[in-house]
Amino acid sequence: MAIRREEKPQQGHKNTGLAEESGEERGKENSQGKPKKNYEIEIYRAWCKECGLCVEFCPRQVLSRNETGGPQVVRPERCTGCGWCELHCPDFAISVHEKKAGLPEE
Ligand code: SF4
Ligand code: SF4
Repeated sequence: MAIRREEKPQQGHKNTGLAEESGEERGKENSQGKPKKNYEIEIYRAWCKECGLCVEFCPRQVLSRNETGGPQVVRPERCTGCGWCELHCPDFAISVHEKKAGLPEE
């Protein structure tokens, strides 16, 4: 009996959302017309061993590595609050939470 295999189109990595970058900025509305949520990323330097996992796992390139290899927030407006950085940090040294409307930015 012949087994028929259907060819699937080649797919690259799953969508990282990079194509959505234009026009998606802090304070703007999302595609459903709702205000875009803003997230704050906190890094506890005392616990961070500068492994870079959070930087590598962030699908939105919100984080990059500083001169010593530690994470730094470079594109906070792109954060979707997915929590991947927090989830993969072995030392609980990074956390993400939604900014509440009306609170002043630090
Ligand atoms: S919550 Fe998601 S998008 Fe935001 S910095 Fe962490 S990994 Fe990146
Ligand atoms: S994953 Fe955690 S320990 Fe590693 S660089 Fe990021 S915050 Fe630091």
